[in-house]
Amino acid sequence: MTYFQIAGAAIGPGERRQVNVGIARLYDFTDMGIPVEVVRGKQDGPVLFVCGALHGDEILGTEIIRRLLRHPGLKRIRGILLAVPIVNVFGFNTKSRYLPDRRDLNRSFPGSEEGSLAARLAHAFMSEIVSKSTHGIDLHTAAIHRNNLPQVRACIDDDPETLRLAQAFHAPVILNAALREGSIREAARQYRIPMLVYEGGEALRLDENAVSFGVRGVLSVMRAIGMLPESTSVKKQTISRIAQASYWVRAPQSGMLTPRYKLGSLVEEGSVLGVISDPFGNHQLKLEATRPGVIIGETSLPLLNEGDAAFHIATFDKPDDGAVITEFRSERFEEKTHSEVL
Ligand SMILES: [Zn+2]
Repeated sequence: MTYFQIAGAAIGPGERRQVNVGIARLYDFTDMGIPVEVVRGKQDGPVLFVCGALHGDEILGTEIIRRLLRHPGLKRIRGILLAVPIVNVFGFNTKSRYLPDRRDLNRSFPGSEEGSLAARLAHAFMSEIVSKSTHGIDLHTAAIHRNNLPQVRACIDDDPETLRLAQAFHAPVILNAALREGSIREAARQYRIPMLVYEGGEALRLDENAVSFGVRGVLSVMRAIGMLPESTSVKKQTISRIAQASYWVRAPQSGMLTPRYKLGSLVEEGSVLGVISDPFGNHQLKLEATRPGVIIGETSLPLLNEGDAAFHIATFDKPDDGAVITEFRSERFEEKTHSEVL
């Protein structure tokens, strides 16, 4: 029998245990570490890491992992699940995206032992978690004051396995996203580990729709890689639409935004997504879609400065992709008339 070595612990087949990946000592001399729950099946199989709160205020991933760990199916998994509800433990405790040194952890991978605090944390995560895995899922939300439609981001060009896993997640949209320098996704690629990023909901909030898409998505990927048996019940699953690109619609002037479409809406070229005006309702300017697509992200704070991002729209280049997205509805906000309000 071989033990799985992690953070100084040896995990045998059928064992389930929490370990702590040590990262730093705080200035009150308390030791800070990343808590990890290791769930090892009796049979060998893939090693999947699932992590949340890499951006410390994106707590929705933590909730997805909390629910995942209570799933009865984990009693009969093949392989090993490394569940990491909170990667950026510093940011989580201060409700911040960043680390105390103001660095973005997801731009600090693969990190180094001798570098900044962010680089050291990234390095510890790479050596104890990522390098020991065969697959990975990183759970995110939109940044503060923004909301995202449940979506998977993955680099699927010339990578059929990553595409297969992205489709297995069954999120409404897969955004074919290039690897960002310093991201965990880019670092995992160097180890040839197929990896997905899931995005859904808002920072510091739990959106039930985004949480349940995430839980079902992770379980479904576990089935696709053979960690869990195929589901025998026939459920209607969302078929993901693959977006090859996306663009932002920004505020043409500072002011208050009145959105006209809801998240997940299908929009046409020239659709008026919202109107920005002064507080009296004067100086109105329209925010228009420049290409057809689906709204996958939007600001949830209607106070915008000129140039602030207001809507994020995924575009579907191929004609067949265009055909399948007709399932998305155009959901508009209806402004009540004066008599209705009174
Ligand atoms: Zn994030």
